[in-house]
Amino acid sequence: MPDNAPTQLIDSFGRRVTYVRMSITDRCDFRCVYCMDEEMIFMPREKLLTLEEIAFLMQAFCELGVEQIRITGGEPLVRKNVDGLMQQLGALKQTTGLKQLTLTTNGSRLSRYSQTFYDAGLDRINISLDSLKPERFKQLTRTGKLDTVLAGIKAAQQAGLTKLKINAVIMTGRNEDEIIDLAQFSLEHKMDISYIEEMPLGHVTHDRQESYCSSDTVRDTLKTAFNLTESTVTTGGPSRYFHIAGYDNRIGFISPHSHNFCASCNRVRVTAEGRLLLCLGQEHSVDLRHIMRAHPNDMPRLKQTLIKAMAIKPESHDFKIDAPQPIIFRHMSVTGG
Ligand code: SAM
Ligand code: SF4
Repeated sequence: MPDNAPTQLIDSFGRRVTYVRMSITDRCDFRCVYCMDEEMIFMPREKLLTLEEIAFLMQAFCELGVEQIRITGGEPLVRKNVDGLMQQLGALKQTTGLKQLTLTTNGSRLSRYSQTFYDAGLDRINISLDSLKPERFKQLTRTGKLDTVLAGIKAAQQAGLTKLKINAVIMTGRNEDEIIDLAQFSLEHKMDISYIEEMPLGHVTHDRQESYCSSDTVRDTLKTAFNLTESTVTTGGPSRYFHIAGYDNRIGFISPHSHNFCASCNRVRVTAEGRLLLCLGQEHSVDLRHIMRAHPNDMPRLKQTLIKAMAIKPESHDFKIDAPQPIIFRHMSVTGG
C-alpha cells in the first residue's frame, strides 16, 4: 500500500466501519421456522472460507480499525475446530485494536465449548431462545431441544461467560404469549434480552405478513408487567434498550422495519463463502474469497480491497415486510445474523 493510503474503513457517507460479523458456516443443527426451510441446500464445503482464511481476513479488518468481531452463522458451533479459530481471534486483542470478540449461537453446543471460549477471550454471547416451552421450542426450531440450550446457558455462566444476551424472534400466533416470560427468565438469570422483528430474508413456509409482530406491540405487552425506562446506550445498530427498576440487565428491541438505523451503521458482514456484504438489506458485495485465493497471504492487497469496498456501502437498507416476495433471497443463515 502507498504510504498515504487510508488506514481505516470509512464509507462515502463518512461512516467508519468498526464492526464485522463473520459467518463461519451456513449449516445448522436447527431449522428455525423464520430462518430456514425444512429442506435446505447448503454450500459445498470447498466454497467456504477455510479457518486460516477467516483468521487472516479478521486480522486485516482489525489492522484497519475494526474493534468488534462477531462470529455467527448458520450455527457457528457446528463448524469443526471453531475452538481453534476462537483462540486465534482472541489473540488479535493483544496485537491489534480489537476490543470485543463476540458470538451468536443457538446454544445447542455451548456446554462443550464454553470453557475454551472463555479462556480464548470471548467477551459476549447472544443466544437465540424463542420459547421456554419444550414442545413449542421443538416446533419453532424443528429439531432443537430446549433442555440442551438451557444447559448450554448454565455452562457458559459457570465458565465465567457472564455477558449473555437472549435473542427472541416474536411471531404472532406462535410465541407472542411468552413475551413477558422470556423477559422474566432473562432478567432473573442476569442476562439481557433483545426482541427481534422478523425480517423478510429468504423464502420460508409461513406467511411473514401474518406472523410479523412489531417491536411496538412487544413493548406494549411488556409495559403491562414492567416499568420500562429508555436507556441512552446505542450500539450503532438497530437496537434500542430499556431498563427495568430492580434489574441490572437490559431489554432491547431490534426493529429494522419500524426504526431506521442506517445513519449510524458501523458494520459489515462476511458470508461463509467470503462475500463481503456492505448492507444486510442490499446486495452490494465483494468476493473476498476470490482475492484471497488468487493472492494467498497478500495482506496489503486484501486491505486495499477492503478499503476500496467502502465506496459501495449503500446509504440504507430497503426492507418491506408487505412485499409480495422476499426482497433479499438470502436466508439469514447465509448472511449471518
Ligand atoms: N444460529 C445462531 C443463532 O440462531 O443465534 C446464529 C445465526 S442466526 C441467523 C442469528 C440470529 O438471526 C438469531 O437470533 C435468529 O433468531 C435471527 N434470525 C434468523 N432469521 C431471521 C429472520 N428472518 N428475521 C429476524 N431474525 C432472524
Ligand atoms: Fe439455525 Fe440460527 Fe437459523 Fe435457527 S436462527 S435455523 S439456529 S441459523
